[in-house]
Amino acid sequence: MQYSTNIKYVISHLSFHWESNDEVVSKFRFVQSNSVLPNIEEPVIIFPLCDEILETPVSINILEKEIPVLFSDSSKIKSIYSLNKYGQLIFNHDFITSSFYLLSGVAEQTVKRDQFDRFSYEDSLQYRLDCPDIPLVNYYFEAILQGVEAYCRFHSLSFKRKRLFERFGFFLSHDVDRVSFYRPKEVLYKIKQLSGMAPRSFGYGKTIKYLFKGVLKNIFLFSLKDPWWNFDDLIFLEKSLGIKSTWFFLHRDHKNLDSQYELTDKKIVNLIKRLTEAGFEAGLHGSYYSANNRNKIKYQFNLFEKIAGRQPVGNRQHFLRVTGIETFRNQESVGLIYDNTLSFAEHEGFRNGYCYPFKLYDLENDRELDLWEIPLTMMEVSPLNYRKVGLDGLYHSAFKLIEEIERFGGVFSLLWHNCRLMDDEYPGVSEFYPKLLKDIMSKSPQSVTGEQIIDIIQASNVIR
Ligand SMILES: [Zn+2]
Repeated sequence: MQYSTNIKYVISHLSFHWESNDEVVSKFRFVQSNSVLPNIEEPVIIFPLCDEILETPVSINILEKEIPVLFSDSSKIKSIYSLNKYGQLIFNHDFITSSFYLLSGVAEQTVKRDQFDRFSYEDSLQYRLDCPDIPLVNYYFEAILQGVEAYCRFHSLSFKRKRLFERFGFFLSHDVDRVSFYRPKEVLYKIKQLSGMAPRSFGYGKTIKYLFKGVLKNIFLFSLKDPWWNFDDLIFLEKSLGIKSTWFFLHRDHKNLDSQYELTDKKIVNLIKRLTEAGFEAGLHGSYYSANNRNKIKYQFNLFEKIAGRQPVGNRQHFLRVTGIETFRNQESVGLIYDNTLSFAEHEGFRNGYCYPFKLYDLENDRELDLWEIPLTMMEVSPLNYRKVGLDGLYHSAFKLIEEIERFGGVFSLLWHNCRLMDDEYPGVSEFYPKLLKDIMSKSPQSVTGEQIIDIIQASNVIR
């Protein structure tokens, strides 16, 4: 049967969750609402398709949770499906279009952008429905599988679910934005902060302390440990907890917006070598303007290959800056395999409503890109700086998200910057961060790098 590209896209993602059975799939019928249903006695599986998104989603109980379903023309029916005496399965709501809407980014089709040319959380459906922490698409897929399972039971056909990770995957990553706390420019910036010309990261007294220390280090060449060159400590910590993380490196492209190092700096080259030799992954952190400039991402990709001796597999855009599908088209065209940018900067959670890797979709050309998205679940800056809920709030939110992810065997993807571990900036963070990692690991996830996740999902797909 020939499906439209949209339907094919959803069905291929559904197959991450069950051992797709060809005999069952051959019974799938996608029926526009208001059109004539197939013969009532024919044992087919009917997916109704709706064109219009509901103003108020219909609330359907899935896995004992009230889940907003975006497309439906039978809002009064509360059950997921009906199975009649002929063994015909009819879904009561349009889970297909609801899934496509979130996964493919239709939900983000707006001209409104924030000051960095990004899609804003406040313009999102999750904000409107107050559900950033619910992986809606995973629930929609669960609803479909509950129906398919009942159909298979009725017709004595085999049905088997599968999940990506036994418990969940823990994908820890670091954006290496800043590496030198005491470089002269940072020290001079403290003067600007003290004079009120720039926002302060620390209190007044602490800013004076660091200005003083910076002067000692730079003028009198005092040896002081640099709090942003903390890689030995982080590597040691992660190794001791059995964590393998991914580190994204940012080339200095724009003098103020990007890093203050070049990818070719000897100490960066050596750091990448050390990390990869220790089994960690090094990837690319596309610069601010690389988000909408193919030449820039191409240049940085090639430079990374030159210094690391291998092409980067994954990338995250600096500032989580995605200016539109062009960002991903460019990533695809230079040869990147996965992106790990898609979270709302202002709020952690499930921007595409999904806690599995998925293929990005080009709505303008109606085509699935050959580029994986491993959705970013939480950037530490979202709860700490945007939402200002403190370390306790971050902890609570992380475990709430993990609870959802664990339900589906998905990936919890956490970004923590190496430059955001100073107690003077976030009191208590130096003790909090190891404890957070330890508590996550005590839930027995599989610690994986981005590259390993792609290997795992591709292998899972071969089985079907
Ligand atoms: Zn960055």
